[in-house]
Amino acid sequence: MKRLLITIDGPAGAGKTTVSRRVAERLGYRYVDTGALYRGVAYAAHARGVRPEDDEALAAMLANLRLQFATGPSGARLLLDGEEITDRIRTPEVSMLASAVSARPAVRRFLLDLQQALGREKAVVFEGRDMGTVVFPGADLKFFLSASEEIRAQRRFAELAEQGPARLEDVLQEMRRRDAQDSTRELAPLKPAPDAIRIDSSGLSIEQVVGLIVDHARRRLAAG
Ligand code: C5P
Repeated sequence: MKRLLITIDGPAGAGKTTVSRRVAERLGYRYVDTGALYRGVAYAAHARGVRPEDDEALAAMLANLRLQFATGPSGARLLLDGEEITDRIRTPEVSMLASAVSARPAVRRFLLDLQQALGREKAVVFEGRDMGTVVFPGADLKFFLSASEEIRAQRRFAELAEQGPARLEDVLQEMRRRDAQDSTRELAPLKPAPDAIRIDSSGLSIEQVVGLIVDHARRRLAAG
């Protein structure tokens, strides 16, 4: 049977992570969260005192950096030079730093090869910002998932509030800054691929969005 490579791009808080994971489960595919890779690079830069604007120091750091996904009992884990960092990359500080390092050419080049290698065997759902535009322009099925700013901020807030105290206003500000930065950067800006199917998830449940995407995939598979 044909194996698809599916991309799901979109802004922060659009529901990409939950949706992508469930779509992959339903199809029996692998799921790759590429934002985690940018977060891993940001975490490493912070830990080593490398500033995101310092291209030389970034390039030197990347030359010796090993980022890997491993499968643990509770899902995919991210390893940096063999050390598990999965739970340390989800803070608002790492989010902003990830957005800053992701605009740098050396970082995008480094992760481009890694991501394309992960997609070689297909049967995979990739989540990110430039999956359908830059990393896999020839993907079998592309989606661009969005939702109103208020709803996206609410969703992010609910996630962060589970981990500790959070303020909706701060979440909204951070999300706005990050989306503006991600959409206006020169390299691989956040935007829908011309052939992406756009889904506005504002009035939809997670299961409805998952259902829409799985239906598209099944139709594509049936068409051969
Ligand atoms: O998806 P997530 O919020 O984890 O992504 C963190 C940051 O990584 C984004 O704000 C964006 O700057 C960057 N990113 C990117 N390209 C991707 C995935 C994430 O530039 N494919």
